[in-house]
Amino acid sequence: MTDARDLADRVQAGDLRFYALEDEADADTATAARRELLRRETDVAFDVVGDYGFDAAEAETAIENMVGTVQIPLGVAGPVQVNGEAADGEFYLPLATTEGALVASVNRGLGTITAAGGSTARVTESKMTRAPVFQVEDVSEGKAVADWVRGNFGKLSSAAEETTSHGELLDIRPYVVGDNVFLRFSYDTKDAMGMNMATIATDAACAVVEEHTPARLVAVSGNMCSDKKPAAINAIDGRGRTVTADVRIPRDLVEDRLKTTPEAIQEVNTRKNHIGSAKAGSLGFNAHAANVVAAAFLATGQDEAHVVEGSNTIVTIEARENELYASATIASLPVGTVGGGTKLPTQSECLDLVGLRGSGDPPGTNADALAEVVATGVLAGELSLLSALASRHLSGAHEELGR
Ligand code: NAP
Repeated sequence: MTDARDLADRVQAGDLRFYALEDEADADTATAARRELLRRETDVAFDVVGDYGFDAAEAETAIENMVGTVQIPLGVAGPVQVNGEAADGEFYLPLATTEGALVASVNRGLGTITAAGGSTARVTESKMTRAPVFQVEDVSEGKAVADWVRGNFGKLSSAAEETTSHGELLDIRPYVVGDNVFLRFSYDTKDAMGMNMATIATDAACAVVEEHTPARLVAVSGNMCSDKKPAAINAIDGRGRTVTADVRIPRDLVEDRLKTTPEAIQEVNTRKNHIGSAKAGSLGFNAHAANVVAAAFLATGQDEAHVVEGSNTIVTIEARENELYASATIASLPVGTVGGGTKLPTQSECLDLVGLRGSGDPPGTNADALAEVVATGVLAGELSLLSALASRHLSGAHEELGR
């Protein structure tokens, strides 16, 4: 068995590359060799970073140059009753975060939702997008390419779907800008978040476009996808799951659990989430949706950079005669229960806790259900924070929890 120190010696002697250690040893030894090299160079031993609880080989497709793991505290909120189309029953929500008071706040919101009979949740649209950019001679050629694409959907979907047994091409929308043509491909990716799947499939379709038109592919992603950037197209047209959770809470429950009134919560939502966000030019009309999306994404192995899309959330609150109506609509929530980071051991355990690990039956229903549960968590976080602001308890809660 090759020793980590021998490997480190060989890297220092220039015989072996830092990134190629797995070619010479098992993944755990390679990881230990990198820590040894860093210790020699920086005096940082990474004792805790190196003390991880799974076989490093299980992270092989998730990371390069692995040295260990960063551990993020994991809390659990719930259980919450979700009356969804895909998620129907009681669910725990695992949340990985370093923000004190977040789990407690979401837990209070979930408890209130459950006491009110649960959230109603629906995925209203599901599509993962990839938008390549092509160069053409001028706008007349651009228009001709766009027309060809519109008239040859079958040819393009056959090429795309040959690369995947689960993905289905739903739509291709062309956009012509001068001598650029953008084609926004939308896929049903079932239980996969689908970014790799959509990229591979789109690449195959692009070859067909190039074969039959004068368009030249510049990049398989032309930023109209729009992946991991704040973008109005995602907020308007959706990306990943578009999902809403809502709840009707009797007035006495609002007063008892949330310590305020429906009218006060409505006022904070209107003046803060709507008017304040509009004045700021925000794409998110919410108080802290990204908090719950980020913590749930880290816990369940989603691509954490997609929190930027998850913040495209509109919260509505209506004080009715005897109740409060509250909703959270996330326009673009890229989630999956297979593939990517969902396969990692601790993240898989979290998906097990929610009861949504792996493929759904039929495929797509597990990722739909996860979206409905996350949306319910976002709704809970909004209700709790808006109520705290309405009753001016926010600073007190933070102080009480030692922050
Ligand atoms: P993936 O791990 O690349 O692929 C998941 C695969 O699981 C699918 O392609 C599918 O195979 C298979 N599968 C099995 N059961 C399935 C089911 N029930 N529903 C759907 N698929 C099922 O995952 P991905 O979701 O496509 O991509 C996620 C990864 O992409 C993340 O690691 C993320 O960080 C990364 N990412 C990539 C890009 C990019 O541009 N490439 C951009 C952002 C993020 P078949 O296709 O053969 O059916």
